[in-house]
Amino acid sequence: MPLIDTHVHLDVSEFAADRDQALARARAAGVAAQVVPAITRAHWQGLAQLVAGHRDLFPAYGLHPVYLESHAEADVEALDAWLAEHPAVAVGEIGLDGYVDDIASGAAWERQWRLFTAQLDVALNHRLPVIIHARRALDHVLKALRQRPGLTGIIHSFSGSRQQADQALGQGCCLGFGGPVTYPRANRLRKLVAGLPDEALVLETDAPDQPSVHHRGERNEPSFLPEIAACVAELRGVPVAKVAEQTAANARRILALPDVA
Ligand SMILES: [Zn+2]
Repeated sequence: MPLIDTHVHLDVSEFAADRDQALARARAAGVAAQVVPAITRAHWQGLAQLVAGHRDLFPAYGLHPVYLESHAEADVEALDAWLAEHPAVAVGEIGLDGYVDDIASGAAWERQWRLFTAQLDVALNHRLPVIIHARRALDHVLKALRQRPGLTGIIHSFSGSRQQADQALGQGCCLGFGGPVTYPRANRLRKLVAGLPDEALVLETDAPDQPSVHHRGERNEPSFLPEIAACVAELRGVPVAKVAEQTAANARRILALPDVA
């Protein structure tokens, strides 16, 4: 029952001490492929080196909206040049964050919008899908996508309404679900996951962040992905094997992943 983790920050320092062991645990747990989205330009080189040593790791390169302070204007052009020379399955992690106060309004918000939309155009230019962070900013993200027909990808840690989900699906996107769906009080999210069409869902851990209810307060890691699959299966009332198969197929389709499993 191979699973695909479509969002795991395996390159960050939280995994510096035991990255190989975390990888081994994930493989032993049935995680057949992992997509690692970058955070800042300073991460790209290390990420390229990390994935070069592992056939089941796939990189996305981009500028994460929450780390706005770390990005220079020239980084978007640098991303365009980087993607011409380095294989990637997506542009990411990119997006808009309306939750972090410092960047949710005024000039910082304008700058988020410019960086995000410029990176969407980089993705179109390279015919790549996108991996999107959309926190309290989903309508803005959907608007930017609508302006670019043909651009698809994954809206990671999706937490919108069914109507917003349908707009994203209409664009051809998939929706990523992870730790938050495992919390019994996440009623709205759990109801959404229960009712979405099979081709909408992909799984993710977002490790080291967003641990499931079983690992509250711990560092999250990709070996915990089967717990997400089990939760999604329970919510949808189907066997976990079906969730594994369908979400892996969706991930392969949306990111054009090779058949690694
Ligand atoms: Zn992320």
